[in-house]
Amino acid sequence: MNYNKKSIEDIEVAGKRVLCRCDFNVPTKDGKITSDKRIVAAMPTIEYLVKKGAKVILCSHMGKPKGEWKPELSLKIVADRLSQLLGKEVIMASDVVGEDAKAKAAALKEGDVMLLENTRYMKGETKNDPELSKELASMADIFVNDAFGAAHRAHASTAGAADYLPAVSGYLVQKEVSIMGKALANPERPFVAILGGAKVSDKLNVINNLLEKVDTLIIGGGMAYTFLAAQGYTVGKSLVDNEKLDYCKEMMAKAKAKGVNMLLPVDTAVAASFPNPIDAEIPVEYVDCTAIPSDQMGLDIGPKACEAFAAAAKAAKTVVWNGPMGVFENPTLAKGTIAVAQALADSDAVTIVGGGDSAAACEQLGFASQITHISTGGGASLEFLEGLELPGIACLQDK
Ligand code: ADP
Ligand code: MG
Repeated sequence: MNYNKKSIEDIEVAGKRVLCRCDFNVPTKDGKITSDKRIVAAMPTIEYLVKKGAKVILCSHMGKPKGEWKPELSLKIVADRLSQLLGKEVIMASDVVGEDAKAKAAALKEGDVMLLENTRYMKGETKNDPELSKELASMADIFVNDAFGAAHRAHASTAGAADYLPAVSGYLVQKEVSIMGKALANPERPFVAILGGAKVSDKLNVINNLLEKVDTLIIGGGMAYTFLAAQGYTVGKSLVDNEKLDYCKEMMAKAKAKGVNMLLPVDTAVAASFPNPIDAEIPVEYVDCTAIPSDQMGLDIGPKACEAFAAAAKAAKTVVWNGPMGVFENPTLAKGTIAVAQALADSDAVTIVGGGDSAAACEQLGFASQITHISTGGGASLEFLEGLELPGIACLQDK
């Protein structure tokens, strides 16, 4: 995959109609936006286009209306928030590629901003239907993709429209691609990856791909217990994916053959059962991973593992982290995740966090501002780490 893509700065946008795909898939409750983080993240690109005198046509999906016109998934609330942030009117279209959208797009003046309705109101969106792509493209002269969170999808508005228009990245996509692309293609070493989260099976290909690139691979979180079980340890009631034991053995052998230092937790927090509710106060004990009692389950890495993982992270020049070290939603079981987040925050390395829950953990725990880059796309960043080609990026013009 070529990560060196043209951006909005490499194309003349003044006076041009620019179809700009953003990720406005914001969380809502009772018709109100509960976090406008994604809208804020799109502002640099929108402000640049406005300043340059482009005629800006924004589009995005929200939720999963599956081709149905669900009023609760209208982007109108996003247009209102955008207006506030931009300090100017954002013209809301009442359809996606219908008469209203087309008339409003045709009437735009330089520096005007409009927003199309939810692209997933159209059945053709998720099918990457060329007819819909063409209709979207017909309203504009240039396509800009700034929706990193949807870049792993080949949809009409994320990739299809690029078949009919010159296509470049917005600032957000450019930032994601340049930081993560550099880390994967040409990292400053030592390069350390830290993987966690619930299951090995979620991240099989990520583990496999990262073993080709890193100097050290740290495995914590729920996925560590399958690796420990594969080494022959008893892990009690911990989360184990019995079908992946051979895979874990293969990965450990691959690490050895490649000279990659693979670190598993030496100790763990254990409890008799999974906390219910998840943030309930529960009694935990710390044991070595060679001695997990048969009636206990591992729910966080232990203090020795925290120290070892933090030391490895601190010695690195590049760190990629995906997946919490334990059930961080519970304060008692968040210690491992905090230790890793703290180590990244204290490090001078390029630090990159991908994965929805890991990003949320960094933010909740207050470390976000000290991390080089927190990816805005959970699924997209995971596919990036897998070494896959992301359709929303592959479709952009090479530099
Ligand atoms: P991300 O979204 O960052 O990629 P995942 O979705 O893969 O991360 O995993 C996050 C989930 O993993 C969290 O809900 C967390 O509670 C869970 N988890 C972490 N460690 C364990 C464990 N030891 N046992 C069970 N679940 C765990
Ligand atoms: Mg997750």
